[in-house]
Amino acid sequence: MRIKIFIFFLPLILSSCMSKMHFLSSIQCDFPLHSPYPGGVLNIPINNNNIKKESPLITGNLKFTKCRSSNKYTKIIIPIPLDFKGKKISAKQEEAFLFNEYLTEKFYRESRITISDENLVNPGDDFIPRIKEEYQLSLKAKQIYTPKRLNAWEMNIPVVGQISSEFGVRRFINDQPKNRHSGIDIYAKEGTVITAPLAGEAIIASNFFYKGNAIYINHGAGLVSSYSHLSEINIAKGDLVEQGDVIGFVGQTGRVTGPHLHWEVYLMGISINPEVFLSKPL
Ligand SMILES: [Zn+2]
Repeated sequence: MRIKIFIFFLPLILSSCMSKMHFLSSIQCDFPLHSPYPGGVLNIPINNNNIKKESPLITGNLKFTKCRSSNKYTKIIIPIPLDFKGKKISAKQEEAFLFNEYLTEKFYRESRITISDENLVNPGDDFIPRIKEEYQLSLKAKQIYTPKRLNAWEMNIPVVGQISSEFGVRRFINDQPKNRHSGIDIYAKEGTVITAPLAGEAIIASNFFYKGNAIYINHGAGLVSSYSHLSEINIAKGDLVEQGDVIGFVGQTGRVTGPHLHWEVYLMGISINPEVFLSKPL
């Protein structure tokens, strides 16, 4: 069995060592949806005849992965950071361009909220070490890359509820500019079940200062998701979950103004609009 597994992964390991490229083979390469804007993902089919296996793919400073969609095509998948400033993304091998993709404009609205507990907006010095430690933990979690063959990366919505804040919103808390909203907020009553949108392994299941009770799931192949402000966590670190398993319940722990799920999806460590992974549009 062990030999079988090794042979199964061998081409993957070799290709990633030789070319420093992550090669993802999948029967389902239609997700993430092609969404050429900051916070979205490029998903571009390239004829296999045009890709030189030995030569590294050059995408500027952007990370990428690949998905073999058929014998004829490979899809190049590039997560685009929300703060990406360029108008165009190119991929080339040696001097040959594989593609030039022009980005579309995406409107992200502003949101201004007031939080009365000053400790949550500007935490006192006592909380700083804890916050720093949790920041490092979550940074490490979202950057995990495990070379796993995904059969699909099409997600279901984790909670039935109302979208109360979209991805990418420019936020101000008590008039102070804060980080852009790097996930989707889904409003639902406290105690509403949260299900895993896709199979994976729980890599964090604990309490955070800002996120409250939080879960991180590693789906493999550079795809990770997180769930914050839960009233209760239903799984433990190391648990394997299937799509649809109950992982926790909606709550209002951490920095919140009411019960909701804050849901984030990361590809190669980059926060991406979770909508581009959804099987049904919101
Ligand atoms: Zn949120």
